[in-house]
Amino acid sequence: MSLFDHPEFDQHESVLFGFDADSGLRALIAVHSTRLGPSLGGCRMFPYPDDDAALTDALRLSRGMSYKAALAGLPQGGGKSVIIGDPRAHKSDALMRAMGRLVERAAGCYIVAEDSGISVADVMRMSETTRHVAGVPVPGSPVDGDPSPATARGVWMALRAAWQRLAGSEGGTGGAALRDVGVAVQGCGKVGARLVQYLVDAGARVWICDAHAPTAEACAAATGAEIVAPEAIYDVPADIFAPCALGAVLNAATIPRLRARLVVGAANNQLATAEDDDRLRAAGVVYAPDYVVNAGGIIDIHYQRQSRYDPDAMQAHLARIPEVLLRILDSADAQARGPAAVADAMARDVIAGVAI
Ligand code: NAD
Repeated sequence: MSLFDHPEFDQHESVLFGFDADSGLRALIAVHSTRLGPSLGGCRMFPYPDDDAALTDALRLSRGMSYKAALAGLPQGGGKSVIIGDPRAHKSDALMRAMGRLVERAAGCYIVAEDSGISVADVMRMSETTRHVAGVPVPGSPVDGDPSPATARGVWMALRAAWQRLAGSEGGTGGAALRDVGVAVQGCGKVGARLVQYLVDAGARVWICDAHAPTAEACAAATGAEIVAPEAIYDVPADIFAPCALGAVLNAATIPRLRARLVVGAANNQLATAEDDDRLRAAGVVYAPDYVVNAGGIIDIHYQRQSRYDPDAMQAHLARIPEVLLRILDSADAQARGPAAVADAMARDVIAGVAI
């Protein structure tokens, strides 16, 4: 395993490896950048096949958090931690406390939050041994720690703005544009189900799928959306595809199947490879870069961490998501490049202190 020659190494500031014999903790914290502020990012627990797979994930995800925070206009850097282990089999209170001690050792350069395999309750357990936690309930305040409602609202605002831009450029009606527009939502969990509700309320025709059938059924019962099998979601005659489940769903196999002309969704790392940015462009599909449109969660967490939670300021900040997205889409058209590449370049400029 190499670090400085690692393909995902991108001038990361630090990587902290942690081991605790008593609890069995094997973890690492990657801090990509603290130029704009302390780095923040979730802790992922996953049964990585080897240490290199864990390092790869931490390096890649921490850089993504830097870019997300930069384009969201937050005084915050990017970091990510991973615990090597199966969350169903290896999680314990002692393990979470040991992870908290590792976070504390990063001395405030890294703030930990929940991610896949790690719940709010786990982060609260970590908070017994570190002060540097986010996304947890704040006693005496309305904050319950869950960033999903803000994420869903940001995705919804981005989707609406991107569709209006597309429909408007084709001589469409702009404002009322979502009535009878077809949207395929992949995954109706905490974010997807809320997005479906926004879409149905706006008069869109919505197809949904979920790998967990009862989740799809509950969403359909609440909203009237139409359920399709998870494998069939790429083939429905939708105008918009909204990935809200997992990463790498936009790839050489799925892009040719899409009938949508716009992709806007909450899932992280939707593109399987950087080439899929160009592949979507060549197929005439407008891609809204994932970390730009799903930034509502970290925006909310930023406001949760202030001494008083200000919901109006948080909502005003969310409204900047569609503005940034439209700038990226315009710039991508002007440069004849994929929007993901343009977003990455803009984020690097923000981190480097270049006005964008
Ligand atoms: P969630 O776990 O609540 O929901 C995800 C849903 O996707 C689940 O119901 C799951 O059964 C379903 N799913 C998994 N694989 C699937 C497949 N192959 N086909 C169809 N459905 C499948 O997660 P969430 O909080 O709603 O987040 C959704 C996505 O958005 C994730 O990729 C997450 O990383 C990303 N995201 C979430 C937030 C947030 O605030 N929750 C913020 C930023 C990004």
